[in-house]
Amino acid sequence: MGRLVMKFGGTSVADIDRIRNVARHVEREVKAGHQVAVVVSAMAGTTDRLVGWCRDAAPVHDAREYDAVVASGEQVTAGLLAITLQDIGIPARSWSGWQIPIRTDGVHGAARIAEIDAKELRKRMEQGQVAVIAGFQGLGPDKRVTTLGRGGSDTSAVAVAAALEARCDIYTDVDGVYTTDPRIVSKARKLSRISYEEMLEQASLGAKVLQTRSVELAMVYKVPLQVRSSFDPPDSLDQDRADGTGPGTLVCDEDEIVEQHVVSGIAYSRDEAKVSIRKVKDRPGVSASIFGPLAEADISVDMIVQNVSADGETANITFTLARKDLRKALEVLNRVKDKVGFLELTHSEDVAKVSVVGIGMRSHAGVAARMFKALADKGINIQAITTSEIKVSVLIDEAYTELAVRALHAAYGLEAAN
Ligand code: ADP
Ligand code: ASP
Ligand code: MG
Repeated sequence: MGRLVMKFGGTSVADIDRIRNVARHVEREVKAGHQVAVVVSAMAGTTDRLVGWCRDAAPVHDAREYDAVVASGEQVTAGLLAITLQDIGIPARSWSGWQIPIRTDGVHGAARIAEIDAKELRKRMEQGQVAVIAGFQGLGPDKRVTTLGRGGSDTSAVAVAAALEARCDIYTDVDGVYTTDPRIVSKARKLSRISYEEMLEQASLGAKVLQTRSVELAMVYKVPLQVRSSFDPPDSLDQDRADGTGPGTLVCDEDEIVEQHVVSGIAYSRDEAKVSIRKVKDRPGVSASIFGPLAEADISVDMIVQNVSADGETANITFTLARKDLRKALEVLNRVKDKVGFLELTHSEDVAKVSVVGIGMRSHAGVAARMFKALADKGINIQAITTSEIKVSVLIDEAYTELAVRALHAAYGLEAAN
């Protein structure tokens, strides 16, 4: 039946009963004849608690030690799942990132997987042993534990699947990928399939159902990826989705999707901040003098809006960035203030980005216009806009996030029929 990687997120392993439930999902696949590797997250709330402890210990702290602390959550789950599997008669062994090893680069806190040596895993799996792997963690070039950024267990799972030439099932607390976050829009519709490209956009624009890097890896290594629910009864799920129509959502190539929509989903992100620089000299080189130092400080800027101010000699530049980078960005800009020459620096964290995504946009006009009209009808002001081939994003007041998502979901006719 082939090799299979099953990944279970934090809510799915929140307590011992849920870990037992996970063990039964694994048992089902083992009994169906699969060689199984399982990737697990930390139990719900654990990573947040560990991150909080690091901050309490020292607001600014060593990234290597942060990784040493936060990686521990996944190790607990891996051991507990191995114990519950053994308890129901399934041979199982837990693995930390360094034991495999899952080698990463040295960017502590946001490491990227470089290489996985899957020889030993393969051997054990062929012998019928389930490999229970701690997600989110790897081994850096400095021989210290690294972590892959929040939500990184998805990426561990896809990378392990790529190394094992296996398919990958991501079990979470919803039963698939929806047209938008089903926790915000109750009428959101489950997609039976979504293309890698659209899923990649959705993830990078805030849909946290899959970590962006995991979708990237699945696309590059052609890993068949499915999102499904761990809360469906373990013995009622299809065991074989050879026809691609399993119970969840299949992330696949665009040409495997028959039913195409212009817009496939609405994503939102509250992880945004806005910086405005007032009265900068309107001359060549000014943007470079602002964004160069930000790039050197490893700060990614997203939307940029520039408008000439009333005096005709100066401009105002507004840009957005991840909220976690705001403080660092303000420090950098204050440092270069004299060199750039500007009057005032202001910032806001009360902003959110809302995006519509769909590969059909490539060939259909009017998608952005419909978005702007739907937002205008609700009285929502647009502060900045960016577009790509398959998405349009706007920056709005954070207070209107849910209203905007609901309005757009309705405007593009994405609701489930009742
Ligand atoms: P896990 O702990 O299993 O990794 P996450 O909380 O990271 O789970 O991701 C699952 C959550 O993603 C869901 O509970 C849902 O609220 C959210 N989500 C956001 N956008 C979507 C979407 N388009 N489809 C499905 N879930 C989404
Ligand atoms: N436990 C980590 C987090 O909460 C990784 C994951 O769950 O994917 O971000
Ligand atoms: Mg997640």
